[in-house]
Amino acid sequence: MVFLPDFRVRQRDYLLEISRAMTAQLDLTEVLRLILQASVTMLAGEVGLIALRENDEATLRVRALIGVGPEYVPVFAPLLTGFTDVSTEGVNVPGFDQKLRQVAQALGLPLRQAIALPMYLADEFIGVIYVFRTFSGTATLNDRRVLQSFADQAAIAVHNARLYEEVNRERMRLESILDHSADGVMILDPGLAITTFNKAMSRISGWPPEAVLGKPYDAIITWVSRPQGVDLAEAVRSGWPYTGQADGKDKSGASDTLYVEGDLLRPDGTQIGVGITYAPLLDEEGRLINIIVNVRDITHFREAQQMKSTFISVISHELKTPVALIKGYAGTLRREDANWDPAVVQQSLAVIEEEADRLAELIENLLAASKLQAEGMRLNLEDVSLVDLVQRSVSRFQTQTDKHTFEVDFPPDFPIVPGDEERLRQVIDNLLSNAIKYSPDGGMIRIGGTFTPDEVRITVQDQGVGLPQDEWERIFDRFYRVDDALSRKTQGTGLGLYLSRAIVEAHGGKIGVHSTPGHGSTFYFTLPRYQRYLRKDRRTT
Ligand code: ADP
Repeated sequence: MVFLPDFRVRQRDYLLEISRAMTAQLDLTEVLRLILQASVTMLAGEVGLIALRENDEATLRVRALIGVGPEYVPVFAPLLTGFTDVSTEGVNVPGFDQKLRQVAQALGLPLRQAIALPMYLADEFIGVIYVFRTFSGTATLNDRRVLQSFADQAAIAVHNARLYEEVNRERMRLESILDHSADGVMILDPGLAITTFNKAMSRISGWPPEAVLGKPYDAIITWVSRPQGVDLAEAVRSGWPYTGQADGKDKSGASDTLYVEGDLLRPDGTQIGVGITYAPLLDEEGRLINIIVNVRDITHFREAQQMKSTFISVISHELKTPVALIKGYAGTLRREDANWDPAVVQQSLAVIEEEADRLAELIENLLAASKLQAEGMRLNLEDVSLVDLVQRSVSRFQTQTDKHTFEVDFPPDFPIVPGDEERLRQVIDNLLSNAIKYSPDGGMIRIGGTFTPDEVRITVQDQGVGLPQDEWERIFDRFYRVDDALSRKTQGTGLGLYLSRAIVEAHGGKIGVHSTPGHGSTFYFTLPRYQRYLRKDRRTT
């Protein structure tokens, strides 16, 4: 049995106590105080102090002080700066004895001796520990050894605290990334229960986080119909993630993700199109720790796809019809074996001209729509008489139909408004042409105007097929056409109302529709009467 001298036993007990404190709690100040207390007692000191470097500064900051009250911290300032030489052996501050006397005087204590040791973390100087004694003499080697053991403990405590802080910062960073991610993210434990659920995930799925944490993942992921790809439960049943443990090769499994796409059912009964990636997180032995689930709302993507295919089908249909007609009539007229009656020639040329006009208009609309998207709309403002514009359009359209009658009703004092005449003509033409197109049985088309001190309002009312309320907004979208039998056989690109809305809104006005299906629709638009309300350069997409 080895008998340790008494002070060794005490030192060992202190070090044990300090280690316990360090593992039990991570409050650095408390641990440093404990270390300092042990150092001062072990070295029969009167006052002790631990000071640490902060942010690489040359001056140290007191983190623990024993033997005098905290109000004396500033008194020690001269001993915490101007280190000329710091080695593992000791700390050298120029004029140390002089400074020590000043400190002692300020404290009113007979401090005669100071043992100072630097604290190191690897090779980095991180602070000092001081023990002040009231008796004179120099510190023995043993004193230094004792203090060194405590200084080492303090350095470890600082190291732990730094690590803890770093981990904490990293955790907060991750949390903030997760929280601000536009994609939905949830993290599952190996039993497929939800442990993390970010804001975007909440928005996409319609579930608040508190309702789902701890629940199995398939409480949230409920597919409306069979999704495309392999879903998680199915994959897990067939042994996913394939950790490669069997052959001992690939243990990371990083590329082993699953992707599945489909429509999720939300708690309020609505649906949302999503693409989900499941990524397994494995430990070094290839055991599953977590599954990171990334959920992306693919509504816009699908809309864009849909728009693209609508665009292609509409455009090809709309281009093909006039081109086929023009080619057919031109081919017939060219036949050398035929001797056409001048009336037939006239009629055929009229069709060719009409179809060429239709093509030109279509191209014009397409260009206008893409230009609008690229650069917004610029207006050429002048004084516009809407009454004249309407009358001119009506006379033009009247020649194209004998099933419809037009009625124009404006008060005599209807005001002149500032506007872009050419573009406003497009709006009126479009509303009139639609009124004709979408009332195939004919009827009355009424165009009226009213005004208030601020704005004018034009209405175009027909007795046609009308529109159900859920279409009232959408018909102003790009390429949108109501999907019914009449629209299918009526020519159109779904651009007319889109462009009309852009023009009216660029003028600072509003456009809209009210309708009773089967009885007709009333389209209206308003325009401000004074230029100050106009927005000249509005971007519309
Ligand atoms: P287009 O007429 O070229 O299809 P528009 O943008 O002018 O494109 O109109 C979009 C859709 O709105 C039309 O396809 C049609 O279904 C509907 N619509 C427009 N005007 C009327 C109307 N007066 N009555 C009923 N439906 C209409």
